[in-house]
Amino acid sequence: MSKIKYDCAKCPGYCCSYDLIEVSNHDIGRLVKHFKVSDAVARRRYLKRVRSAGKDITVLRHKKDEVYATTCVFFDQDERRCTVYAARPHVCRTYPDASRCGYYEFIRFEREQQGDEDFVPSA
Ligand code: SF4
Ligand code: SF4
Repeated sequence: MSKIKYDCAKCPGYCCSYDLIEVSNHDIGRLVKHFKVSDAVARRRYLKRVRSAGKDITVLRHKKDEVYATTCVFFDQDERRCTVYAARPHVCRTYPDASRCGYYEFIRFEREQQGDEDFVPSA
């Protein structure tokens, strides 16, 4: 892959606000180990089942956020970072799976236009 052209440290964590962040059984196993809880407890505390595109999937729970409407339950809303980085799901490890992140390009452009490095446009 070519050089990474986005900087998550300068982003308020937009990708952690996606509604449906799907997890696999393997991802759940990693969370179980990380929190030293049972599979049932992990599923109840951190996950929920939803219907999407005609199938039932397991996704990360959300909580209210001041920047975006909600974020993943594991997102530190003051530090704007993941609190389970070593145990985060596969999809979080691979996203955006390219050298560029569309949201980062968008926020960088808007910040340049506003002349404000901290500006957060509504997505
Ligand atoms: S939206 Fe892009 S830049 Fe922002 S945290 Fe996610 S991957 Fe990083
Ligand atoms: S597990 Fe971490 S990286 Fe994945 S959505 Fe939640 S806070 Fe973001």
